[in-house]
Amino acid sequence: MNTLSQIKELLTSVGLKATHQRLVILEALRKMDNHPTIDQIYNQVSEDNPSISLATVYKTTEALVEKGLLAKVSTPEGLMRYDARLDSHGHIYCINTKELVDFYDDELDQLIIEFFKKKKVNNLKIKNISVRINGEKLDPRKNVLIK
Ligand SMILES: [Zn+2]
Repeated sequence: MNTLSQIKELLTSVGLKATHQRLVILEALRKMDNHPTIDQIYNQVSEDNPSISLATVYKTTEALVEKGLLAKVSTPEGLMRYDARLDSHGHIYCINTKELVDFYDDELDQLIIEFFKKKKVNNLKIKNISVRINGEKLDPRKNVLIK
């Protein structure tokens, strides 16, 4: 879902006009794929669109979140990061490098559901599970690998 026409389709499917701003922001986020902050999105987008303001990038990005085309992930420092991946997944956050790494694990989701059942948590229907693990990379030069 990265071609311009696919992104246009996505915008119109949620009732948004495919304006230039929305297109370039959504395209940038899908290309970046690293949970950027609003400043990082702005830096990326303003390279090719120098007239766009930070306020416009912020407003447009938030509108895309509202329509469900982007997700937000907070970090322990309270910094908001944006996520173009909309499927159910967890995050591993390195408190030193500030990297936010995606992970997918159905087994973990199942364990959490079982845990809630076992604890007899009342009056709650789990809609989705999004776990964030905070840690420190042992070797900052290497990636976090999940087997
Ligand atoms: Zn993610």
